[in-house]
Amino acid sequence: MDATAFRTAAVQLIDFITDYQENIRSRPVSPSVSPGYLRHLVPASAPQHAETWDQLMPDIERVIMPGMLHWHSPQFHAYFAGATSYPSILADMLTDALGCMGISWASAPVLTELEVLVMDWLGQMLQLPDEFLFSSGKGGGGNIQGSACESTLITMLAARARAITRLRSERPELSEADISGRLVGLTSDQAHSSVARAGLLAGLRVRPVRSNTRNALTGEAVEAAVAEELAAGNIPFFVAATLGRTASCAFDHLRDVGAVCARRALWLHIDAAYAGPAFICPEFRPLLDGVELADSFNMNPHKFMLTAHDCSTLWVRRATDLTDVFHVDAKYLATARNSMPSFRHWAIQLSRRFRALKLWFVIRLYGVEGIRSYIRQQVSLAKEFERLVRSDRRFEVAAPAVLGLVCFRLRDKEFGNSLTDALLSRVNAARRVHMIPSMLRGGTQYVIRFVVCSRYTELRDVQLAWSEVQRHADQLLAQPERVVRAKARWGAVRAATGLGLLRHTNMALFERWNSTDSSSSAGEVHPDQLLFECSALDSEASDSESEPEPPPDGALPTQEPDPAGTEPPTKESGDAADEENMHRDAQSDVVSALASCEL
Ligand code: PLP
Repeated sequence: MDATAFRTAAVQLIDFITDYQENIRSRPVSPSVSPGYLRHLVPASAPQHAETWDQLMPDIERVIMPGMLHWHSPQFHAYFAGATSYPSILADMLTDALGCMGISWASAPVLTELEVLVMDWLGQMLQLPDEFLFSSGKGGGGNIQGSACESTLITMLAARARAITRLRSERPELSEADISGRLVGLTSDQAHSSVARAGLLAGLRVRPVRSNTRNALTGEAVEAAVAEELAAGNIPFFVAATLGRTASCAFDHLRDVGAVCARRALWLHIDAAYAGPAFICPEFRPLLDGVELADSFNMNPHKFMLTAHDCSTLWVRRATDLTDVFHVDAKYLATARNSMPSFRHWAIQLSRRFRALKLWFVIRLYGVEGIRSYIRQQVSLAKEFERLVRSDRRFEVAAPAVLGLVCFRLRDKEFGNSLTDALLSRVNAARRVHMIPSMLRGGTQYVIRFVVCSRYTELRDVQLAWSEVQRHADQLLAQPERVVRAKARWGAVRAATGLGLLRHTNMALFERWNSTDSSSSAGEVHPDQLLFECSALDSEASDSESEPEPPPDGALPTQEPDPAGTEPPTKESGDAADEENMHRDAQSDVVSALASCEL
């Protein structure tokens, strides 16, 4: 492609992008293709000779669009937002065009310097403690990672190194291997799977700690878990707290958890992947109180700050916690030291994209006030959806809208889970809106997650989503045979969960709703998704149907300790062989029950 052809194609593509964005509401939000659909539309092998842009361009509509779940449709209410905006798209174009590699300051001086600048800007916007900003000169700073997952892994590894150094200086007789084998990280039992995964990748054990009935991790629970681990001869070293949990947008009790970490010399990492950008608004900033006790803080502009994937911002209190650990320099990388950070020592990859450009564009072209008003608008739409749910007595709000997420379900003391599951199946099958479920209360309470994701979502879209939910609820509840089948199916799921057969109820459900295979029905859960390892069952939780008290309208969640006696009971361990047989029998019952219970 020469410059003339590029110019022509670029103009056409910009037109396409703009039309796609502006007319996105006219496309069905979810696709109706089956796995493998693409193979039928494209040749099996690569073209031997160059094609023209005119040959390729129509295939965007013919090949790509049919397989799109439109994340920026105003009717997309699933997961969390995957942000984008015109400024961010422009910046990514420029990044690709500049094509520089941030290996060291010398390899791309502006890349490093702009990243330092925007991370300080953003840190100031969030009112992070001074120690986290380069400009304070106190040793901390931030950088852009690819994802919240990477940030958790990086900080866990840094925490491991810090713990080993400290313990070896206190007890030189211990080897690194002695210590490493006994290290344990702690996080909530409802933390994002990335924390458990970081543990797997790092070869470190991560203990899930029970959340309270409001889905939050408390200082008391962390303290108790730490004491138990120490008594067992293990060494707690790292706590990952979440602000804005994926399933419910719950907020861990940061101050209390932080106080335990300070007392016990544990690294406190804050995962605020989704909620973080909201703290730019002064009214949400109190949710971040306690960050002054943290060693690291991460949030994703690529979720809630109009910046396209990937852009996950990580700040650390002491940069040397990273640079001392991840510092390996080949001869060909050596450059004269200067006052600028070498971000290759802060991350997994050596060469980094010029991602700071998109933050710079977004912050400048929206302004801090523009970003705030975008966030406030998303939150107010979620609150409107919550109001609509509360106005219909058949429904209950399981997790109120603190930010852009509302968790709700059909009220039914005994069969709320099955009915809500069946309802979501019908809503999504109609393809006018798209939502996914999650499980709250220790995996016992099935809820539908409604998230305001798109910057195009307006009041009419929230009303559309609610009218779809009501319409399908009317139909479902008017068909007793469907209700019976839904109940039977959920009975099997619940039995499996109670017996510890469903480790990943959440995962199985997410995968099912994630499937864009229009031929798959709600009853078709692959048996493999249901297999469970008994050892992974931390505890069973009660199936209490009572709704948690929502905070008063507009109030932020409080950090009171969980009232005594409301925590679910702990599972007693039984005879291993009996349990194993019981599990095997129940597992096959469940699989056949699920197979026969098509909705
Ligand atoms: N942490 C939380 C709380 C999340 O909600 C998510 C994703 O939704 C993640 C981590 C993972 O984010 P990423 O895809 O940037 O790794």
